[in-house]
Amino acid sequence: MSTPHTVLVVGGGAAGNAVTILLRRAGIAVDLIEAKDDWNATAGSGITLQGNALRVLRELGVWERVKESGFGFGSVGITAPDGTVLHVARDIRTGGDDLPATVGMQRPHLQQVLIDAVRASGARVRLGTRATDFEQDADGVTVRFTDGTEARYDLVIAADGLGSATRAAIGITDKPEPTGMAIWRIAAPRPAGVVRTDLAYGGPAYIAGYCPTSDTTLYAYVVEANRDRASIPEESYADEMRRLASAYGGFWPEITAHITDPAKVNYTWFDRLLVEGAWHRGRIVLIGDAAHCCPPTLAQGAALSLEDAWVLARLLTSTRTWDDALLQAYYERRVARVRPVVEASVRIGQWQLDGVRDADVPGLMGRTMTMLRELP
Ligand SMILES: Cc1cc2nc3c(=O)[nH]c(=O)nc-3n(C[C@H](O)[C@H](O)[C@H](O)COP(=O)(O)OP(=O)(O)OC[C@H]3O[C@@H](n4cnc5c(N)ncnc54)[C@H](O)[C@@H]3O)c2cc1C
Repeated sequence: MSTPHTVLVVGGGAAGNAVTILLRRAGIAVDLIEAKDDWNATAGSGITLQGNALRVLRELGVWERVKESGFGFGSVGITAPDGTVLHVARDIRTGGDDLPATVGMQRPHLQQVLIDAVRASGARVRLGTRATDFEQDADGVTVRFTDGTEARYDLVIAADGLGSATRAAIGITDKPEPTGMAIWRIAAPRPAGVVRTDLAYGGPAYIAGYCPTSDTTLYAYVVEANRDRASIPEESYADEMRRLASAYGGFWPEITAHITDPAKVNYTWFDRLLVEGAWHRGRIVLIGDAAHCCPPTLAQGAALSLEDAWVLARLLTSTRTWDDALLQAYYERRVARVRPVVEASVRIGQWQLDGVRDADVPGLMGRTMTMLRELP
């Protein structure tokens, strides 16, 4: 009997957790290291999971828990800044007709569902641990860790997010670039009438929107041009977001009343990244935000990261030969799908920054989401 392959997954976010669960299911020995001591710390407010993300979550065996915890819906409302509903569009069911088009979820709940599945998978998890050094040859990678230990693996999967230290360590020099926009986000109680995402374009911000994340909660966000972070003291975060949000009507006054605690408001710049050329060097391969990132104008970042995990796991479990050709095939399959999503997500934001009034946003969204209905 041949020895099972061994894999190190660096990073326990959506991508790293998903690939761990899938590889463990195939009997592959997986170690997962996560830099944070608390695996579910600072997991953020809410997340919009499109059907193509749900399709992977179902494959991971966690769909029932996601469905119970989140808030499913199938349309998006476009409103005027005063809250008047101008248009309601049906969302495209990118995960297929047997899944909702969209589920809103509290990020800590999604992370906990994935953490529980990783724990149940039998992967060996080490929190508060980073890799300090990778040394590879034709047969494997020797990795040294911050706790002074070292181990050897057939493959290292770098799922360590946008600022991936592993990406830099293997000599990939692509870096995220700001797109020029930034977002204020908060979790708040859900007014009973909020049953889908509504987006207001215009007003003092480019976009003001909210997404229900459970029967009792939503997350709300306001997108504006990015500002020098150093010029905004964190103690003023609630005041800043409330100032922008208070210009919006409809459900916004009810939401805005909860924007009081600066520690609960998150301010983040939008970034863009698409690593050009292969996403691997030798036996170390990138997935998720470590390889690509898009501004959340299409809410596709985590969905694409989950898809990466699914595709890579399927390739790795389809053969015992883990070679350059296999990892190149992974890259080619993914980049063909990821590139148009990154480009569309950036373009939608750029149209707003440039004040293009006749931009065909629904057309671009429709074409991109229709493409995503295909299996990755
Ligand atoms: C404002 C905003 C809103 C978004 N909204 C949506 C949305 O609605 N829908 C959607 O699909 N996507 C959305 N995204 C994108 C989504 O959050 C990301 O694409 C997704 O989280 C990427 O998952 P990941 O696992 O690749 O990376 P991450 O979630 O960043 O996870 C990386 C993990 O690696 C760990 N780590 C980092 N360095 C190391 C190291 N050296 N060693 C070990 N561990 C390490 C980190 O602690 C972290 O746990 C949004 C992004 C932003 C910025």
